[in-house]
Amino acid sequence: MMKKYVYAFEEGSKEMKPQLGGKGANLAEMKKIGLPVPDGFTITTEACNQYYVDGKTISDDIRSQIILKLEELQTKTGKILGDNNDPLLVSVRSGAVVSMPGMMDTVLNLGLNDVSVEGLAKLTGNQRFAYDCYRRFIQMFGDVVLEIPKYKFDRVLDGQKTSQGYELDTQLTVDDLAHIVKEFKAIVKKDKGFDFPMNPIDQLLMSIEAVFNSWNNDRARVYRNYNDIPHDLGTAVNIQSMVFGNMGNTCGTGVAFTRNPSTGEDKLFGEFLINAQGEDVVAGIRTPQKIEELRDIMPEVYEQFAEVANRLEAHYKDMQDIEFTIERGKLYMLQTRTGKRTAFAAVKVAVDMEEAGVISKEEALLRVAPSQLDQLLHPMFSVEGLAKATPLAKGLPASPGAASGRVYFHSEDVAHQSENGVECILVRTETSPEDIEGMVKANGILTSRGGMTSHAAVVARGMGKCCIAGCSDIFVDEEEKLFRVGDETFREGDWISLDGNTGNLYAGKLDTVEVSLTGDFAKLLSWADDVRTLGIRTNADTPRDSEVAVRFGAEGIGLCRTEHMFFSEERILNVRRMILSNTLQERLESLKLLLPYQREDFIGIFKAMGE
Ligand code: ADP
Ligand code: MG
Repeated sequence: MMKKYVYAFEEGSKEMKPQLGGKGANLAEMKKIGLPVPDGFTITTEACNQYYVDGKTISDDIRSQIILKLEELQTKTGKILGDNNDPLLVSVRSGAVVSMPGMMDTVLNLGLNDVSVEGLAKLTGNQRFAYDCYRRFIQMFGDVVLEIPKYKFDRVLDGQKTSQGYELDTQLTVDDLAHIVKEFKAIVKKDKGFDFPMNPIDQLLMSIEAVFNSWNNDRARVYRNYNDIPHDLGTAVNIQSMVFGNMGNTCGTGVAFTRNPSTGEDKLFGEFLINAQGEDVVAGIRTPQKIEELRDIMPEVYEQFAEVANRLEAHYKDMQDIEFTIERGKLYMLQTRTGKRTAFAAVKVAVDMEEAGVISKEEALLRVAPSQLDQLLHPMFSVEGLAKATPLAKGLPASPGAASGRVYFHSEDVAHQSENGVECILVRTETSPEDIEGMVKANGILTSRGGMTSHAAVVARGMGKCCIAGCSDIFVDEEEKLFRVGDETFREGDWISLDGNTGNLYAGKLDTVEVSLTGDFAKLLSWADDVRTLGIRTNADTPRDSEVAVRFGAEGIGLCRTEHMFFSEERILNVRRMILSNTLQERLESLKLLLPYQREDFIGIFKAMGE
């Protein structure tokens, strides 16, 4: 039997992700549960792999399967691809199994040419709309399929807007758009040496090949290496009949999360644009409106959308990230996937869903990644504070957490100031063992040099203290007691804030939220205690670290490195003396000086651990 390489949306389901890719499988699933999804079909990841086996050609077999599905789609929609009177237009959308930024972008409005654009204009009675679609198509096809630099098209578009004195793309008239189309075609001719392809089937097959090829472009390969994604998965291609958000003021397009992805609050969160298509929302062409405002503009569409969002969340049992378009007051769903969220939101959503009976405790636990828990165990900046602040510079997120304080450049100064209750940040080119005391007393550490395994980074992580290392955008002058970033200068006593989760440096004092093992977080951890079979022991070398660990639920110490007990200034001197001693006698004497410290630490540690 012939292998099946092409599936209509109604033939797939969410379980078929390996063949259909994430986007295709979820489009099929939405269709299956009766949501308004424009018709279309998916070419499988296996077809992509076969394309490579066949020396980067689409085999006759696969090609005829594609044409067959296209014919079915034409029958279903009653339109013909690129027809002169009532053209079917489609989008070509890549869709890997694991979502992968850096692969091919989408091509919209495929099927338009010099003739069908007039057909579309006549059919809709809207010439402006038809030419708006056409110029978008040539630009997208030129950019992603023909690989002509995007700026060449943008230059023409911006030039037309400027010469006519427009601010918005919605002000472009039919004549403007027709002129832009002409210029765009000239760019293609000049850059490629051939005319923009007018045959819709050629357009389609060229786009499909471009998606297959994008699987192996440099950006995609680098991304896969970095994220441990296998190189042989291949990408699927989705061909979907177009719906139009750019037909006028009863149309629009948008993106929404079923819950707030920053806070986890159970409330629709998203944005939309009236009279716009696809990428306009993210491209920042106009400022989008908040999803709530859709309720005033199109109350019925809003109600329907809210209901669909609820259904999708209930169906997938997780927060969804949804893309939609409204064509003449009718809602269409174009994508759904699991929504990315902050650590804080991840815990709240998991706990809320367990309490609503949607998922089990075990599932709730699996919804929060271990690295997210780590972030939650350190102080964080408040969501509101971060939203208002602009980073000054970015370094390596060497040790998580958040810290604000006044800058000091020497360990002794930090020690001295903190005794008087001053909140300090230790800023150094790099740190060394002499800086231990300042590091202990500071709220956070910032260095301009050194990597993730530099002294500052390693010691700060051990202490659970926020640290940004290797922030090469800043110039530290320890002697003058200042640092510069851009044309700003920060002197001793000035406030700065460090975000150890992102590596961002901020001027001034941002509000931090202290960690507390309370609320949703405590609840989730108690569920973990109920099901876990592992014991939890800490890695601690000092009484203080041990106390913190006990507070966070450690049942004992698994690793205690005695050499870490000698990091502080007066101790390390004795260690160095011992190493450099010339005689056994000298060595024994230095050791004798170290003994009391160690004894004292162990007593402290045993006490902290409850003996
Ligand atoms: P990405 O993977 O970058 O999100 P998509 O394939 O989802 O790319 O396409 C981007 C956007 O293009 C969608 O959010 C949607 O707004 C628009 N789009 C894609 N296909 C269609 C279609 N058939 N009709 C209308 N708009 C579409
Ligand atoms: Mg999308």
